[in-house]
Amino acid sequence: MDIFIGIKPFLFSYVLINGILVTLQTKEEVILDMKAAGGELGWLTWPLDQGEKTGWEVVQRTLNGSQFYTYSVCNIGEREQDNWLRTTFIQRRPAASRVHVEIQFIVRDCNSFGGGSVTCKETFNLFTSESDADVGTTFRKGQFKKVATIAPDEITSKNELRINKEMRVVENLSRKGFYLAFQDIGACVAILSVRVYYKTCPATVKNLALFPETVAGGENQGLREVNGVCVDNAISEDLPRIHCTVDGEWAVLVGQCQCKPGYEEVEDMCQECQPGFFKAEASGDKCKQCPANSQKLKSGALYCPCMDGFYRAPNDPPTGPCSGLPSAPKDLVATTTQLSAGKLVLSWSPPEDTGGRTDITYSVECQRCEGNMCQPCGEKIRYEPASVGLTDTKVSVSELDAHLNYTFIVEAHSGVSVFASQATPRSHKPPSTSALTTSLHYTEAPKVTSIRLVDRTPTSLSLTWDVFPRPRVQSRTIRYEVTYRKKDDNFDMTTYVVLLLEKNSVQIGELSPGTAYLFRVQVLNSDGSPGGSSMEEQFETSSELHLTQNNTAVIFGAAVGGAAMLLIVVVVLFLRKRKRNSHSRQGPEDNYFSSSEQLKPLKTYVDPHTYEDPNIAVLKFATEIHPSHITKQKVIGAGEFGEVYRGILKVPGRKEVAVAIKTLKPGYTEKQRQDFLSEASIMGQFSHQNIIRLEGVVTKCKDFFKHAMIVTEYMENGALDRYLKDHDGEFSSSQLVGMLRGIAAGMKYLSDMSYVHRDLAARNILVNNSLECKVSDFGLSRVLEDNPEGTYTTSGGKIPIRWTAPEAIAYRKFTSASDVWSFGIVMWEVMAFGERPYWDMSNHEVMKAINEAFRLPAPMDCPSAVYQLMLQCWLQDRSKRPRFGDIVSLLDKLLRSPESLKTIADFDPRVSIRLPSTSGSDGSPFRSVSEWLESIKMSQYSENFTCAGIVTMEQVLQMKNEDIKNIGVRLPGHLKRIAYSILGLKDQTSTLSVFAV
Ligand code: AMP
Repeated sequence: MDIFIGIKPFLFSYVLINGILVTLQTKEEVILDMKAAGGELGWLTWPLDQGEKTGWEVVQRTLNGSQFYTYSVCNIGEREQDNWLRTTFIQRRPAASRVHVEIQFIVRDCNSFGGGSVTCKETFNLFTSESDADVGTTFRKGQFKKVATIAPDEITSKNELRINKEMRVVENLSRKGFYLAFQDIGACVAILSVRVYYKTCPATVKNLALFPETVAGGENQGLREVNGVCVDNAISEDLPRIHCTVDGEWAVLVGQCQCKPGYEEVEDMCQECQPGFFKAEASGDKCKQCPANSQKLKSGALYCPCMDGFYRAPNDPPTGPCSGLPSAPKDLVATTTQLSAGKLVLSWSPPEDTGGRTDITYSVECQRCEGNMCQPCGEKIRYEPASVGLTDTKVSVSELDAHLNYTFIVEAHSGVSVFASQATPRSHKPPSTSALTTSLHYTEAPKVTSIRLVDRTPTSLSLTWDVFPRPRVQSRTIRYEVTYRKKDDNFDMTTYVVLLLEKNSVQIGELSPGTAYLFRVQVLNSDGSPGGSSMEEQFETSSELHLTQNNTAVIFGAAVGGAAMLLIVVVVLFLRKRKRNSHSRQGPEDNYFSSSEQLKPLKTYVDPHTYEDPNIAVLKFATEIHPSHITKQKVIGAGEFGEVYRGILKVPGRKEVAVAIKTLKPGYTEKQRQDFLSEASIMGQFSHQNIIRLEGVVTKCKDFFKHAMIVTEYMENGALDRYLKDHDGEFSSSQLVGMLRGIAAGMKYLSDMSYVHRDLAARNILVNNSLECKVSDFGLSRVLEDNPEGTYTTSGGKIPIRWTAPEAIAYRKFTSASDVWSFGIVMWEVMAFGERPYWDMSNHEVMKAINEAFRLPAPMDCPSAVYQLMLQCWLQDRSKRPRFGDIVSLLDKLLRSPESLKTIADFDPRVSIRLPSTSGSDGSPFRSVSEWLESIKMSQYSENFTCAGIVTMEQVLQMKNEDIKNIGVRLPGHLKRIAYSILGLKDQTSTLSVFAV
């Protein structure tokens, strides 16, 4: 009989673990192997003795030369067979509640016995019985439970041997062991092999976690969860877990272990990092090579410390490269930019060796050295943008004194510079500083530091002042310009007296007793250019009148006794000149002004230029705003110094407000910065409904180049001239007069504060949502220059001719009276809906016309009273012009009685809707209706004309007022403009001159 028994201790299968397909071995743990026993098994047969017919028998067989035992039974033809074969006691491993029983057997075909036997069977039964102990030869059928009926797949005939293999599972085992039993009920059977085993998931290492061998399955559980343990030198936050399936396969791995710092994974183990490698954290990563400039330690390094002379900055990762200190900046040079401002610019190139870093910054230190002794230059020196933390390779240094040697030390810094002091002498430490000694070779303009009273009488004051620095060059002549005025003079009639002196003291006579005077002394350089000026200082004459002191000549002679002759001459000349002029200057002006009630200003405007350092003026008059409180939203205009934005100001604890933000474009000079901020210093002194309100400034931001700003209230409708042009004809006379009233009120406030605007024009008036008009643009630099007349002049001499009073153009006499003239022009601009004053006449033509007593004609529809007021503002004699107080009262009066606005000023369309209305731009008659409409800025009605069939100028000339209305021109202003233009077109002989008064 050929018998084959195959035993496979391991089965291979595939499972997915953490998404990875891995091969796992299933292990079979055999607890009974009939064949492997190799000898008499000692299994119990029952019944014990059946006489002739025995039950199960042990039969020894030989296969391929080796012997083995089988159990056979073949009691066919006998009735009621019940033969049992019971195994020995099979010990169970506690976890193995489920065992596999594999049986190899042969069953003879009943038919092969010839004649057949009715009792012949071809199956046998498998039973099992659990027990906690070996019961020996005791056998009780009733204790066995049937597991299965075993039937052959193939039965063995006479000639052919068929071995069957069946597998059955016995589950839910719980006792210490069990027996199997085979019941024969009349078949011819040979059991060749019985193998009993349970499956296990083998011990394994997965994801650096060790999982022990685990018996597969369990009572009613398909998966057995097993906790893993990290292998040596590996750690895990959560215990890794895996599951052992019924089939002895590992599945569903959760979590993992990682090699701890200094270790890396090599073949399911954690090994120390090799020398020269490091690993800082527990991770699945491999050890990394030590970074640049770090030391290669022995194995198992967590990090690589820096080599001598190399460092990691506090913010550098401990695993990053180490860097050295930067070398010194190169090519340090100083250039002088504004000599007179004591300013120079230091520039340099980046260091050759940055130490491998990109965070290089520079600091600048100024020292004054004499011999080997050096000391810091002190706090006076100013650095722009700063003296430390510079990222740019240049800095401007100002407030330097002339002729002094300064040593500038520029140092390169990087994130590791903090370690510079720890650097050991033998370490690599490049010198990180460059030094340069330089001096400013210019003569600093002397400034007048303070004025002191030496003596006073009821009619005279003796003053002296100091100059710093004292002029070094002996031959150099310094002169002084002393300007003084009565303190309580109404501004409009203030008389400035200017004296030119060559000595730093003066006695001034012919003063009123017990009266306060304000003095200012300015240095004049030898070339006549103005030097530093003192602050305005106040001194008072005494009230007692002593006879002896009444003789000016005596006092004066005594006082100037020590002074040079020239001084006397100059002083006398000036005094005389002043006396001579006093009539023409004070007469009409005084009369005019003294006739009205005189309101004393509550507060006087302070010119920021009187501050030696204009930055101090900004500090004093403007609030510093933190840039983070400002949000820029949109560019709304272009200012002289940079864009103007609309934005939001949100100061913590205050309501959010809409603001306009004027910016200073980068790359400005110090002078431009001061000019830019001077507008804020001026604006910040005002507080009036009709003056644009300053919210504050941004000057102190570190990144100053980007952030200098002036923040003011936001005026929704923008500049008045543009606004009126855009709403041509849309406002009634009283609305327009209301606007003018606001502007006049603002101007009255300014003049009460002794502030002269000099650039009053509709373009400098801003309009808000409620049509409130506010005076703005305080940006002209107003410097008291070397001026023989002693009046204020603009520094650049740029005068807006069309708006400026003739005396201001002619000899720069800017006063509130000249502002009144400008106000008259603004009145005209407003009443003419933003028309350009004097249209396209040249400045020269305008000046000529004004000198010849021509004045602008009344705008269309202008109330007569309003035009009369304009003409008053344009009186040649400034003392006869109304004051702003008068103007406000008059406009108020007109607004209170609307009737007064009904009388319209005479209007001549030929001159008032100016020039283009009579012909095309080249002087020839208009070729088309649209060309004509465009010339009178009424193009919006082109379509109305076309639709009404009016397509030629001939047809236009035929139109009556009614016709214009009928084609859809509704606004009275527009109606009139068109009608008047047609009138003008009809009268081709009109003169183009301006209206004479
Ligand atoms: P300025 O430099 O003052 O002449 O300003 C330039 C332009 O910016 C003006 O003509 C206005 O159109 C606009 N602008 C300036 N300030 C304001 C403001 N406070 N509100 C609204 N628009 C302004």
